[in-house]
Amino acid sequence: ANQKGGVGKTTTCVNLSASLVANKRRVLLIDLDPQGNATMGSGVDKSELQLSSYDVLASLLPPRKAIVPTSSGYDLMPANIDLSAAEVELLEMDGRESRLRLALEQIGDDYDYIIIDCPPALGLTSMNALAAADYLLIALQCEYLALEGLGQILKVVDQLKTAGVNPNLDVGGILMTMFDVRTNLSRQVMNEVTKVFPEKIFKTAIPRTVRLSESPSFGQTIFEYDNLSAGAEAYRALAKEVRKRFSL
Ligand code: ATP
Ligand code: MG
Repeated sequence: ANQKGGVGKTTTCVNLSASLVANKRRVLLIDLDPQGNATMGSGVDKSELQLSSYDVLASLLPPRKAIVPTSSGYDLMPANIDLSAAEVELLEMDGRESRLRLALEQIGDDYDYIIIDCPPALGLTSMNALAAADYLLIALQCEYLALEGLGQILKVVDQLKTAGVNPNLDVGGILMTMFDVRTNLSRQVMNEVTKVFPEKIFKTAIPRTVRLSESPSFGQTIFEYDNLSAGAEAYRALAKEVRKRFSL
């Protein structure tokens, strides 16, 4: 998550899912953004969904009914614009932050990793993700003022913990995205974040590359689109780091 838009959350969800699958992990990717970018990026047409994460959140549809396989080998709980209604509809509901968590209890241990792609907002939809998660991964773009807004999301994590909504929630990692090797700025930002969160930052930074920005328009992961690119290499390295960090 990151309430800031366009920082590489979806790109990371899709490509981390695919690279974990390449490591023989069983992965479910949950698209929890009404933009449906993770859905499209996984090669699933968001305009043709029978059931989606909206039905799981709003009507407590058994999650398995909304899950579809993808060509990359991970399963997907897709989303589209329907999900935008959840933000308002959930307001009236009991346990409104915990609907996803409740639904996912039915999944049991079908998966090694469940990765949830959040929208660029800290509303009820994102709260459902944070209430269901063991760890929050934050994508941060390598740019001036990258750390701005981070305090806000970390505060939400604390609130969810102290309110008992998700006492075990922890920041699992901070990923620097769109690292530009040609600029000093990227290096400076990476150094700054490393200083502030030495334990949380991933050593792997995702480079800014055209190939990564092109692949979603083909509904392909970077491994399908250009397996030998720097972006593919970076997401392979990230998967390795993630597996080591979470011992899975
Ligand atoms: P939103 O907040 O709207 O959900 P997001 O945080 O999910 O956005 P992405 O959709 O992953 O961000 O990325 C934003 C844009 O930047 C997309 O067009 C994507 O293709 C592009 N992009 C993401 N990562 C990279 C990268 N490493 N190099 C170049 N382009 C990238
Ligand atoms: Mg996104």
